[in-house]
Amino acid sequence: MRPPAPVWHLSSLRALRVRVVARILTPALLALIAGIGCAGDSNQVRWADGRGHGGGQQAPSARPRAIADDGVDSPDQPQPGTPGKPSALPSSVAPPLPAARTGGGAPGILARIPQFPPAPRAEKITLPQGPAAAWLSHIPTSQKVAFLTIDDGWTKQPEAVQLVQAAHVPVTLFLTINAIRSDPGYFKQLAAGGAVIEAHTLTHIELKGKSRDLQRREICGSADQLGAAYGRRPVLFRPPFGDKDETTLQVTQECGMKAAFFWKETVDKGVVRFQEGQTVQPGDIILMHFRPAFVDDFLAALQAIHDAGLTPALLEDYIP
Ligand SMILES: [Zn+2]
Repeated sequence: MRPPAPVWHLSSLRALRVRVVARILTPALLALIAGIGCAGDSNQVRWADGRGHGGGQQAPSARPRAIADDGVDSPDQPQPGTPGKPSALPSSVAPPLPAARTGGGAPGILARIPQFPPAPRAEKITLPQGPAAAWLSHIPTSQKVAFLTIDDGWTKQPEAVQLVQAAHVPVTLFLTINAIRSDPGYFKQLAAGGAVIEAHTLTHIELKGKSRDLQRREICGSADQLGAAYGRRPVLFRPPFGDKDETTLQVTQECGMKAAFFWKETVDKGVVRFQEGQTVQPGDIILMHFRPAFVDDFLAALQAIHDAGLTPALLEDYIP
């Protein structure tokens, strides 16, 4: 299949993370107690019931890790919230980050965010015409850019919001409705920080081989609900586990979305795995998840992009 994937580690970050998480969580809890957390709009979102609850916990089939590496968090991941009953308060609140913004006294993690040159003006690609959405694992461009995508949404750490906001890099979130319904406001904080929200089904079911009706319900349904919740209807789609068939791509287009995505690199527990070669290539799409190791994964992805001499760019900017 593919050559063994070279890896590199950010294990030294873990000790730092414990310290910084403690620093972050304490003001977050105080803010909640004081009633100044952004409880906000969680209650305003109404989630239609997605069938097959718990689909996000289905185990990936036995395939090479870099291909199957989508959608299932560690076994201790938080369970999806009660359908249709978003929590009264966000499960997590991101306090402000004055240290990061001023550059004074920034915690070690924030100091490790790589610095990138500005992204070039995006050159939109040409999508094939036809009855099906395009299927892409990278953007065909020679521009020195790469694309970071973050999937699912089961784990919602305050420090993830802090890190994304502090990094000022564009990211695309492929969110699963069942994963986010316990706290949709969490992702509004990320969107406010520049993240763009795209679709990843209602229940995280494997779509390949399923009926057109089921695929339509999962794909259109997730785009409809994300559009209603966040004020922008997704234009991109990622099938759970990266598994699709021709029906998936046809339905993706029928549901109003332009392209569906695989990936070239995956990140898990601070380790970047390459499908080809040993570095991120221009136009590559990198996959990570909202998992307990978010900080390690996010920093590892950015470092790999930086090491390749590339700059994070926004996937949506390259899609016509
Ligand atoms: Zn997924």
